[in-house]
Amino acid sequence: MNIDLTGQAAIVTGASSGLGRASALLFAQAGAKVAVNYNSNKDAADDVVDRIVAGGGTAFAIGADTSDEDAVIGMFDETVARFGGVDVVFANAGMQKDAAYADLSLDDWKRVIDVNLTGQFLVSREAVRRFRAQGDRGFGRAIGKILFMSSVHETIPWTGHANYAASKGGSGMLMRTLAQEVAEDRIRVNALAPGAIRTDINADATEDADKLLELIPYGRIGDVDDVARAALFLVSDAADYIVGSTLTIDGGMSLYPGFRNNG
Ligand code: NAD
Repeated sequence: MNIDLTGQAAIVTGASSGLGRASALLFAQAGAKVAVNYNSNKDAADDVVDRIVAGGGTAFAIGADTSDEDAVIGMFDETVARFGGVDVVFANAGMQKDAAYADLSLDDWKRVIDVNLTGQFLVSREAVRRFRAQGDRGFGRAIGKILFMSSVHETIPWTGHANYAASKGGSGMLMRTLAQEVAEDRIRVNALAPGAIRTDINADATEDADKLLELIPYGRIGDVDDVARAALFLVSDAADYIVGSTLTIDGGMSLYPGFRNNG
């Protein structure tokens, strides 16, 4: 299966590192023009852009805090001005601020909900507005594709990470409700739910690989490209009949591995 996004314009949020970075690079390899969003690390975003351009692709870096409504609108304005439209939007940006429940501050609760859930709302709402306004740009049946970044913690409770788990649980219902509402406009909305993938966000957990591997029946920690390939598939026409689904990419982490060996 050859996935081709030639001519399509993509926005990837949180694309200066980890899963967003790998997805931006892969989307560009498949022919998409990519807006590489970052929050604070401009140098890292510029490096992603440089790599894409060196490979013959088209990209630019765009700073925007995805929890800031005006910044999100500005990011879409800039993308449409440069690329003539937008066809693929990957709401990937996310963060953790971990604490035991009784110690979780209201600030840390709000910040994680603001970025992981409200940020996804702002980005996907703007995507819907732009897709409807620009209409059919001639890239397959869907007039636009939105991908949410969820987590296995959309469904697996996670002690010490209540704000994060709540944000991903909310993201799941946000995604499915939006998918239901806009499918008749031929806007496809889906999500990814990775398990343990080695990136900055979980550097502490992945350092203790042996402990983590007990939770992963497939026997390895995930790689960023495991997720980027799934992202590319879901935003492509190869996934044209997939609407409102969350694709789990976790080496079996969500299969209740504690029940192996007869429980
Ligand atoms: P990461 O820390 O490398 O990436 C997160 C990115 O989001 C960073 O580039 C960061 O700058 C950006 N970001 C944070 N706040 C932002 C804001 N307000 N505006 C714009 N960008 C912002 O870690 P990652 O693993 O690549 O995480 C990417 C996404 O994948 C997150 O939503 C995370 O919850 C999700 N996820 C990761 C894993 C994993 O194991 N790595 C598992 C499940 C889900």
